[in-house]
Amino acid sequence: MEITHIEHIGIAVRSIEEQLPYYEGVLGLKCYNIETVEDQKVKTAFFKIGQTKIELLEPTGEDSTIAKFIEKRGEGIHHIAFATKNLEEALREIEAKGIRLIDKHPRPGAEGLNIAFLHPKSAGGVLTELCEHPE
Ligand code: ZN
Repeated sequence: MEITHIEHIGIAVRSIEEQLPYYEGVLGLKCYNIETVEDQKVKTAFFKIGQTKIELLEPTGEDSTIAKFIEKRGEGIHHIAFATKNLEEALREIEAKGIRLIDKHPRPGAEGLNIAFLHPKSAGGVLTELCEHPE
């Protein structure tokens, strides 16, 4: 397995619109993409800092995992995503080391990436995502 960089940091927010003045007005970042991922019931907004992105996650329904996260823990950092090469192979390698996977196989995520989540209980309490840019 080869992790190349931090692809993005996911931050759970109640409203993307309410956070734009902070990220754009205060930090001076530019939101370059807003996208809804239907099967995750989440609206995402992206900002780029070098190779790394900030991904704001706004729930689109009460039963969204992001809605449940905010209800339990409030707004804030939700997950960290590492970019890796050959995600399918990386998952087999990680699983063989006894780490619990949320996604046994890569699935489509925002921005055309293939993604998979590792269970936070196996990752020091941090919800961890691996992503791969499809060839
Ligand atoms: Zn993510």
